[in-house]
Amino acid sequence: MKVDWLIVGAGFTGCTLAERIATQLNQKVLLIDRRNHVGGNAYDYHDQNGILLHKYGPHIFHTNSKKVWDYLSAFTEWRPYHHHVRAVIDGKKVPVPFNLNSLRQLFPPSYAGRMEAALMAEYGFEVKVPILKMREHSNPELRTLADFIYKNVFYGYTLKQWELKPEQLDPLVTGRVPVYISRDDRYFQDTYQAMPRYGYSALFHRMLDNRNIRILLNTTFRELEDLARFNRMVYTGPVDDYFNHIHGHLPYRSLRFDLVTADEESVQEVGTINYPNDYDFTRITEQKHLSGQRLPVSTLVVEYPQRHVPGKTEPYYPIPREENYAQYNLYLKEVEKLNGTVLLAGRLADYKYYNMDQAVAHALKLFEDCVARQETASRHHGR
Ligand SMILES: Cc1cc2nc3c(=O)[nH]c(=O)nc-3n(C[C@H](O)[C@H](O)[C@H](O)COP(=O)(O)OP(=O)(O)OC[C@H]3O[C@@H](n4cnc5c(N)ncnc54)[C@H](O)[C@@H]3O)c2cc1C
Repeated sequence: MKVDWLIVGAGFTGCTLAERIATQLNQKVLLIDRRNHVGGNAYDYHDQNGILLHKYGPHIFHTNSKKVWDYLSAFTEWRPYHHHVRAVIDGKKVPVPFNLNSLRQLFPPSYAGRMEAALMAEYGFEVKVPILKMREHSNPELRTLADFIYKNVFYGYTLKQWELKPEQLDPLVTGRVPVYISRDDRYFQDTYQAMPRYGYSALFHRMLDNRNIRILLNTTFRELEDLARFNRMVYTGPVDDYFNHIHGHLPYRSLRFDLVTADEESVQEVGTINYPNDYDFTRITEQKHLSGQRLPVSTLVVEYPQRHVPGKTEPYYPIPREENYAQYNLYLKEVEKLNGTVLLAGRLADYKYYNMDQAVAHALKLFEDCVARQETASRHHGR
C-alpha cells in the first residue's frame, strides 16, 4: 500500500497529526505503533472490576489553551474534575503545592498567622513564588519557612523521583516548584480542567475514525521502514532511536506502577497523596477520583521511580541535566540535516516533558506551520 504519510507513534502527537492530515488535507495516513494499542502514554482501559485505569500513570487533563480545548472537545464530552494532591508531612496530609492551608495545618495558629501575614505583605495574594527565590529572602523567618518546605515537601521527593539531589538537576526545573500564597487547594489553576467522560482511549478512537487513516499496531518503525511506501513521515518515537544511537542513548527516568485493589468504595480523600519522606514510592493515586466511577471496590496506583534500562523499561521522563541537553543537541543537529520529508515531533522526539495539552498544541502548530503550508505550496507548483 502506498500512503501520503507514515506516522510513527499513536500518542497525542501522532493522533492529532493523523486526524488533521486525514480530515483537512484528505490525504492517506498509515499510523503505526509498537504497542498493541493507540493513545501512547495516555492510554486507558477497564480492569477486572470495571475501574478505568491509566496504564502509564495517572493522566489529568488541564489547559489554558482554548484552541486545544475546542479541538479535543470535538472528540469527547468532558467530566469536570479538579485534581487535589496532599503530601504527608509529619504524619499530616497537607495540600500541595504548599499553600496557606498547608501552613495552617502544620504549624501552631500564632506562627502560621504571622507567616501568612508576612507572605502576603511580601508577595501578595494568589501568587506562586518559586521556592528557591523564597529561600534567598532577606527576612530570616521567611527563609526558615522556605527551608522547611524545601526539605519536607521537595527534597526527599526529588531524591526518590530522580535518584539525584536537586542541585544536580537543571535549576530551571527545581527552581520552579512553587509556594502558593492562596487558599486554593487545587493542584492546577488552568482555565479548563476536566477528564474525557468515557476515557482517553474512547477519545483517540473518535479522532482516528476516518477512512483516510489506517492503523497498524505491534509494529516498530524499523520493521516497516523498508516495506511501507510513503511520501512523507512524522516520527514521534525517541530521537536517539531514529538515528541508531549514534550519539549514545539519551538518559530517561522510568517508573513502576503497582496496582492495589481495595475492598472499599473509597480509600483516599483526594486523587493523589505524595509521600516525600517515607517509603520507596513517591505517590499513590486512587483512579476512581479521576474517572468519577461509583463502584464498591477501588484501585490504587502506587508509583515507584526506577532507572531506565533501554529495551526493558519505559522511557518516561527525560532527565533535566545540562549534559543531557548537550547530548540531545547533537541529535538536534542531525534532525536539522533531514530534508523536509521527515518531521520529528512529540515528547520522545524532542526529548522534552510535555503535558498532553502541550503535545496537542505543538502538533496543531506543526500541522498549520509546516504540513498544511508545504502542501499548499506544492499544489501551487503543480505537484
Ligand atoms: C507518569 C506520567 C504521568 C503524566 N501525567 C500527565 C498528566 O497528568 N497530565 C498531562 O497533561 N500530561 C501528563 N503526562 C504527559 C503525557 O504522557 C504526554 O504529554 C503525552 O504522552 C505526549 O504524547 P506523545 O504523542 O508526544 O508521546 P507518547 O504518548 O509517548 O506517544 C509516543 C508513541 O510512539 C510509540 N513509539 C515510540 N517509538 C516507536 C517506534 N520506533 N515505532 C513505533 N512506535 C513507536 C510509543 O509506543 C508511543 O505510543 C504524564 C507523563 C508521564 C510519564
